[in-house]
Amino acid sequence: MERFFLCHYHEVGLKGSNRTFFENRLRSNITRALTGIPIGGVRRISGRILVELKPESSFEPIAQRLGNIFGLASFSPSWLSEQDVEPLTQNLLRLLDDQCFESFRIQARRANKRYPLNSQELNEKLGAAVVKSYRKKVDLETPELTCYVDIVEKFAFLYFEKFRGPGGLPVSTSGRVLALLSGGIDSPVAAYKIMKRGCRVVFVHFHSYPHTSLESQDKVRQLVRVLNRYQFYSRLHLVPFADCQQQVVAFTPAETRVILYRRLMLRIAERIALREGAQALVTGDSLGQVASQTLENLAVIGSAAALPLLRPCVGEDKEEIIQLARKIGTFEISIQPDVDCCSLFVPRHPETRARGAGIERVEQQLDLEAMIERAVSSSRIEKLGLFAEEPEQVSPISQPGSAGL
Ligand code: ATP
Ligand code: MG
Repeated sequence: MERFFLCHYHEVGLKGSNRTFFENRLRSNITRALTGIPIGGVRRISGRILVELKPESSFEPIAQRLGNIFGLASFSPSWLSEQDVEPLTQNLLRLLDDQCFESFRIQARRANKRYPLNSQELNEKLGAAVVKSYRKKVDLETPELTCYVDIVEKFAFLYFEKFRGPGGLPVSTSGRVLALLSGGIDSPVAAYKIMKRGCRVVFVHFHSYPHTSLESQDKVRQLVRVLNRYQFYSRLHLVPFADCQQQVVAFTPAETRVILYRRLMLRIAERIALREGAQALVTGDSLGQVASQTLENLAVIGSAAALPLLRPCVGEDKEEIIQLARKIGTFEISIQPDVDCCSLFVPRHPETRARGAGIERVEQQLDLEAMIERAVSSSRIEKLGLFAEEPEQVSPISQPGSAGL
């Protein structure tokens, strides 16, 4: 019998007239994710996606990669059968030879409503055949084995396992955003959460080299590589920030520094976002977590940029963020010691209740436009890919209109 991974989706299926767009993107993301693994092909079939396996296809790596595809509700290694009751029953009985169980249930679903039996009738027919051949008992509540039967178009798919997908929406169905990625715990989680809502994420990191080490940039690259499991390749802008910080330190009062740094970061990020065609900025802020994240300060910081600012972690506490960071594989990288640019030159008692007018007055001491322009034009852009055929590239300067990829 031919083998497939039968992939189910949930939210994508609710998309009305846009559904084909979402399904096609999901299909192409799956194809992309399985780069380098021998498979027969990936195709859509009535509200499902089929990954056709070859005799030599190995199960584990496919399951592992499907587990990172946003949009998938579940996926199951399954066998293709004729759908007429007689051959379907025979095929099920044959497959059960390899299964070890004392109790079971049949769970049939019909996508093809013209099938002559309804789901319950099919459950009963197949169940009776299994009882007769194997002398096992039916348990509808807590069976040792569930035999799933999906009747789709003119086929039937048989399977015994359902792996949970990550849910969400396929990457690249919701547009492009620019995420501010520090080496910390929160911002990679924020990027993950927004990818899960279908965004393709471009990254920007601010560094204070030579005041901070090259390793701290490498840490950010490592984080991007982990996040590439979900979107396959990324662009990372590395922006030198030491000059900006020196200006801030020289011309402004100490307690406003962190807010000024953040507002500058957002302005620079916005400039890069416009070049990238990104429609929003993303940060890892969590309300009240540190001094720069009081409601007052978030408002004053956020008002520096006109683009929408998304803060997917805003309502999460540190424990929840850490739990997700562990799950997605960024935590161990984030906790490696490093010096973030913003921990340089910061006062012991930073402002917690900044007022917009006051900050704008302080900013008049700075030549903001020159600072932003210099930072953008001396930034570097790196392309980091998950697969060998998408080689990592480094270019010295990010060019306007280089949104490519
Ligand atoms: P994180 O763990 O993400 O660093 P945090 O709780 O340490 O978050 P802050 O350091 O105050 O919080 O940063 C708030 C947000 O500002 C970060 O989540 C990130 O989006 C952005 N940010 C801070 N520092 C940098 C940086 N060096 N480069 C890019 N973005 C940064
Ligand atoms: Mg931080």
